[in-house]
Amino acid sequence: CHSQPKQLHIAALAFPFGTHAAPLLTLLCRLATAVPPTTVFSFFSTEKSNTQTFSNKADLPFGTSIKPYNVWDGMPEMSTAVDQQQINPGNAQVAGPEFFLRAVPGNFKKAMGEVEQESGVKISCILSDAFLWFSGDLAAEMGVPWVAFWTAGSCSLSVHMCTDEVRKTLEMPGSTVQQDLSFIPGLSAVRIDDLPEGVLSGNLESPIAQMLWKMGLNLSRATAVVLNSFEELDPTITNDLKLKLRKVLHVGPSTLASSSSPPPGLPTISDENGCLLWLEKQKPSSVAYISFGTMMTPPPNELLALAQTLEALKLPFLWSLRDHSRHFLPQGFFESTVSFGKVVSWAPQSQVLAHPSVGVFVTHCGWNSILESVAGGVPMICRPFFGDQTLNSRMVQDVWRIGVKVEDGGGFTKSGTTSALELVLSSGEGRKMRENIRGLKESAVNAVGPNGSSTANFETLVEMAGIAFRI
Ligand code: UDP
Repeated sequence: CHSQPKQLHIAALAFPFGTHAAPLLTLLCRLATAVPPTTVFSFFSTEKSNTQTFSNKADLPFGTSIKPYNVWDGMPEMSTAVDQQQINPGNAQVAGPEFFLRAVPGNFKKAMGEVEQESGVKISCILSDAFLWFSGDLAAEMGVPWVAFWTAGSCSLSVHMCTDEVRKTLEMPGSTVQQDLSFIPGLSAVRIDDLPEGVLSGNLESPIAQMLWKMGLNLSRATAVVLNSFEELDPTITNDLKLKLRKVLHVGPSTLASSSSPPPGLPTISDENGCLLWLEKQKPSSVAYISFGTMMTPPPNELLALAQTLEALKLPFLWSLRDHSRHFLPQGFFESTVSFGKVVSWAPQSQVLAHPSVGVFVTHCGWNSILESVAGGVPMICRPFFGDQTLNSRMVQDVWRIGVKVEDGGGFTKSGTTSALELVLSSGEGRKMRENIRGLKESAVNAVGPNGSSTANFETLVEMAGIAFRI
């Protein structure tokens, strides 16, 4: 029985891979401090994702109730990690999402039904990762609003919104002249090769490509689309999105907007590897911080080239490198760089990038990394791998002019990496990039300030939650 029919119940549906669930939880924490305290928050993800995302329970805002609930991950019964590797040798990351996408939406539907039973409070709003486009159908069945959260940038959202147009325009017979996306507002610098795989190239029928395509077709049904970005970063794209979607709410960057920084779920709370202490001892803007996010590690030859470059330049560096990749570094690397470098298995990245000693960020251009670099005012050297990373790196280099792609699209080589580091750290062009990114940082700080666009958008989101309350 639903004893408290007017109680708000927000169901958050996470995409349980990459850095997706943690930003959703960060948004939920922010909402939890702004809506009536009786509001029930249920967070749905897979067991593995929930274990990681909720590992820092202490970060959850005091007095609010955000409860994790597990949904089935779609893995065949009795399968072990070893089996998963065998299903897709060498790349369990790909297998995971594919199995998961076979289990949706049934797994979410089942878990939401159970939670409504258990709590006695009907769900009043679905807040889902935008990837989970079918949430629009679930919300319609339940008669509640669907709010979609796009965890990446406006540029990639725009591309996915326009996938059919992109395919039509660029695949037209004789369209070989058209090599850029100048027919989409704000994307004229983007080239065909920058597009995420599955938009124009690669397997358009893959589960991920299909998911993103359907997302593009369905997002206009959402009551609102929320982004972890700020309007001033891409005003042209933002205005275009506003024409295509019912409500577009940029509420970020979350690292600057959230009181619970760093984001919950990532083991960044403590500085157990002593990164910040080490940075204290370095000169201003002198250190190269290196990290490729939670999923990627460059291939061994590139790790070697990058390490040899740092060694040869004697450049102060802080490198977040997973333990399983340490053995790819050149022999004697740790001994020869001990006086100026530090390799750790995990760094408190947003604090590292906010530290005045950091002068450049060598990154894969994941969206969270880019925003944290903007928040820290640190220019970037980009080595993108997949998904939106190549597109993001194009924006970094040619639109925002706050960084450079390593060898314009290639991987790390000794000569390419040396020139990129010299360009960013000690050339006039690099100084300009630093000025540009500090300008963006100021806009970002203003956006989340008292009269800022992100603050106003967040208030709109809270009001929408209130409207759901009155339904
Ligand atoms: N991160 C961190 N310490 C590390 C490596 C990564 O805190 O040593 C965090 C980083 O701050 C960011 C996230 O992991 O918030 C990576 O997200 P991003 O979107 O950049 O990349 P993804 O992991 O999705 O590839």
